Amino acid sequence: MKKFDVVVVGGGSAGVAAALGAARAGCSTLLLERASRLGGNVAQALVHSICGLFEISEGGRPRLANGGFALEFARQLVAAGGARGPLRMGRLDVLLQEPAAFARTCLQLTACEPRLTVWREARVESAFVRDGILERVTLCGSEESVEGRVFVDASGDAALARAAGAATEQVPGAQMQRPAFIFGLAQVAPDVMEEERRLRLVGALRSAIREGALSPALAGAAVRPTCEGDQVRVTLDLDARGGEYDPLNEFLLAGVHREACALAEEFTGFLRREIRGFEGAEIWEWPARLGIREGARLVGEYVLSAEDVLEGATFSDAVCVSAWPIEMRETATGPRLRYPERGKSVQVPLRALLSREVSNLWAAGRCLSCTHEAHAAIRVIGTALATGEAAGRAAAAMVSGPLVATGERDALAARIRAVTGAGALEEW
Ligand SMILES: Cc1cc2nc3c(=O)[nH]c(=O)nc-3n(C[C@H](O)[C@H](O)[C@H](O)COP(=O)(O)OP(=O)(O)OC[C@H]3O[C@@H](n4cnc5c(N)ncnc54)[C@H](O)[C@@H]3O)c2cc1C
Repeated sequence: MKKFDVVVVGGGSAGVAAALGAARAGCSTLLLERASRLGGNVAQALVHSICGLFEISEGGRPRLANGGFALEFARQLVAAGGARGPLRMGRLDVLLQEPAAFARTCLQLTACEPRLTVWREARVESAFVRDGILERVTLCGSEESVEGRVFVDASGDAALARAAGAATEQVPGAQMQRPAFIFGLAQVAPDVMEEERRLRLVGALRSAIREGALSPALAGAAVRPTCEGDQVRVTLDLDARGGEYDPLNEFLLAGVHREACALAEEFTGFLRREIRGFEGAEIWEWPARLGIREGARLVGEYVLSAEDVLEGATFSDAVCVSAWPIEMRETATGPRLRYPERGKSVQVPLRALLSREVSNLWAAGRCLSCTHEAHAAIRVIGTALATGEAAGRAAAAMVSGPLVATGERDALAARIRAVTGAGALEEW
């Protein structure tokens, strides 16, 4: 049996940050990722901007919400030519990034850390808990176990927490944030993303749907620029069977994926025929998976709420901040945004990363402990990088003994804050 101090499940933004956080704190660490590439939703579903790195503001120079690994990662990606920005979008600043470069940066950073072992194509299937302590996991298709002293669930869908029988939460399909299908188009004219041309495209799309020339399922299609002038990416927000939608049902996802491929072809045909600048457009990039915004979440010692996000709540055990509005995407026709009332970002408490009943299980990123509405704010990549680093550091601290008293947790949170640079407010 293989043994590690810390085992991290899921190699997306949160998992890479958690694994590096634990390894850099001196722990032998194993990162398990079911796909062949690290990077999670970015590498597999082609998510192409990084939100949540910067404070929400009315203007001025962008200020960092957190420092630490989130900043290190963003700087390395920009230096490698894999991202550009920050670009201003209303009260928000985002980095536009290339998924392949994002995945490469994950690989390069993890390869440099001697205490970190990465297994790809390694899907965690079961978990074994004794007396409230998670002891080991097994991988799909193997009887062999991997033992850990502390675990981090960064699977996006609380796969480890569910396997361990820890409490998790998942809202009914009709309320869920809709999934999306993102694909890349090449050979487009460099000016197709100019404001006036973009508005004309939206108008033409609406008319074509009204006239019955295009599927109504394409109503939420959005075309966005990339780092390359002659390429764009298209995001198709999907209804995905309405109330039947279940992001954990692989059978349903396979059907939705198949239908989305056909919609992508239909939309590309429409652009080629009807929109100037797209005459020679070709699909050059298909996603490996649908983009899943919301799945199941851990129920932790604290459940972060929409009220917390809107009030900009503070906590004595804060480990980082979440700087993004509540961005609800419960329909396939675009987001509904709610901003923190005083413009102040909510802090994320250590307790929202710790399982309520499995004492050595932490969670980060998309599956940390929060309500459905709060999730619509905390799920973005900048926050996943920060909560991942915090969970990895917390897991490393737990390797040398359990955390019992509240005072100990506050002291640990303060040490973690010093690493994540929470509320750093430095200029970019
Ligand atoms: C369509 C769409 C658009 C988005 N747009 C943006 C945006 O513009 N900007 C932004 O910042 N965020 C955006 N997001 C949100 C963001 O992509 C995610 O929430 C972010 O990826 C969360 O990171 P994560 O590491 O928590 O989860 P994920 O990126 O989902 O990573 C989880 C990883 O765990 C792995 N995994 C799952 N189960 C197992 C298992 N059993 N064993 C081993 N590995 C497992 C998965 O393969 C995956 O690699 C978008 C999301 C979607 C779906």
